[in-house]
Amino acid sequence: MTGTALNVAATRVGTEVLGPGVRSVLWVQGCPLSCAGCMAPDWIPFRPARSAEPLELAEELLADPRVEGLTFSGGEPMAQAAGLAEVVRAARAVRDVSVICFTGHRLERLRSRPPNPGVRRLLDETDVLIDGPYVAALDDGRGLRGSSNQRVHLLTARYADGGYDFEGRPRAAEIAVSGPEALLVGVPPPGLIGAFDHAVDAVRARLAVPAALPHASEGREPHHER
Ligand code: SF4
Repeated sequence: MTGTALNVAATRVGTEVLGPGVRSVLWVQGCPLSCAGCMAPDWIPFRPARSAEPLELAEELLADPRVEGLTFSGGEPMAQAAGLAEVVRAARAVRDVSVICFTGHRLERLRSRPPNPGVRRLLDETDVLIDGPYVAALDDGRGLRGSSNQRVHLLTARYADGGYDFEGRPRAAEIAVSGPEALLVGVPPPGLIGAFDHAVDAVRARLAVPAALPHASEGREPHHER
């Protein structure tokens, strides 16, 4: 069976820095917005990246048996809402995972004027929506969102007990290294991105890695954090 193929920027299986518990993250390629200071500018262009079917992605994201939730970011997840909703359905046929979705759009707009027909389906599958554009001047260094204008909507009761402080928790990030690539995962604390890029550049210079190779700093949980 084939579904709505997704244009995927990156995935990370089994992280603890992007929501409650152990989660897998899917970043989509492409965003119609252009927030100043976006932390993932390489993922803004709507260019072909990795094309993958929902079923294939669900299997990949659940490969770690500890994974209890999925987190979607990008790029703009709502631009590929139909495919992401299919990923959730395929994953939940195997395991009752929770879903956190970042978006640069406001929830009210998504409900009143959804940018595509898949948005309603993805919202129906989402437990926590973190909405709004990233505003660098409002980045207060706290929480699972990039700036204080972004709101955390508990769309279901799954995390309503307040056990996970989405808005006030200290930020955490991890660096996943795979061959010549390094991925910064998480909503980074202030100063971490600059330090990470500096460290990557220093290592590349020491190893004489050509600058034309993909830069390693893609993959941070940017925006929406926006
Ligand atoms: S911060 Fe998020 S919404 Fe804004 S341009 Fe970057 S990916 Fe798009």
